[in-house]
Amino acid sequence: MLEMTHEEAEGYFSASRINTYLICPNKYLFNYIEKHKRETVSAPLMFGIATHSVIEKVYDRIRAGEPAMSREEVADEAASSWVRTIEKSFEDAERGVSYGEKESEGQLKDRLVALLRLFVDQFEMPSQVHALEQKFRCWVYDPKTNERRETQFVGVVDAIVTRDGAQIIEEHKTSGRRWSKHDYQHNIQGSLYLAAHQMDRLNFNVLTQRKNPCIETFNITSNDWQKTDAINVLCRVMDAVEQQHFFPKRGWQCDRCSFRRRCFTGR
Ligand code: SF4
Repeated sequence: MLEMTHEEAEGYFSASRINTYLICPNKYLFNYIEKHKRETVSAPLMFGIATHSVIEKVYDRIRAGEPAMSREEVADEAASSWVRTIEKSFEDAERGVSYGEKESEGQLKDRLVALLRLFVDQFEMPSQVHALEQKFRCWVYDPKTNERRETQFVGVVDAIVTRDGAQIIEEHKTSGRRWSKHDYQHNIQGSLYLAAHQMDRLNFNVLTQRKNPCIETFNITSNDWQKTDAINVLCRVMDAVEQQHFFPKRGWQCDRCSFRRRCFTGR
């Protein structure tokens, strides 16, 4: 069970911390325990941050009951959001953004503008926006022992909106490929956010940035079993971190890893 609270514990886990550990325990160690400055930040991560900032502005107009942003306003905002994000990347990483083989700063800016124009043209906006970037923290009750953990679960919900007369959580994601059912059916963030808010419906609005961009919505409705399962995964990752189980996990994730040099050379 997750129980919302305003009390602050010393330690906390978020969905991105859990996912980082599951992708590579050593990356978790470098980032969250030893807190090394990143060597680079990946272009997809920066693309997602820039996209989020523009969608937040689009939704904020709906929340305030103001006229919707036009596609040209959104295009201008996308271009300036990209510039701001790239500038900030040098604060976060020694060498700024690392681009893939066929990527460049200018090409990704064009893709961002095209994708967000598509968002304005094709995406069905919610009838009401109640909250944006809403932070929350929860006490975690371990499903195996029923005991309260000392470490909390924290998160930031992109939006709480009304669609078809019902209040739901919405999370906006960017991706370089179309999501498969595994991406949303076993999405730990979705189940944990629903458990924390005691809600039943969450939409992942996935903006896929490719040559032919597309926007798809995946609706998840976690049942009690799925919520308990996600809390169990959270607790087992907490156990692993407490017991300092850190090891390199080599694979596709190494290609864009922000700690690649440190991991392979020890420097
Ligand atoms: S380079 Fe690979 S193994 Fe090393 S921390 Fe990064 S993802 Fe993990």
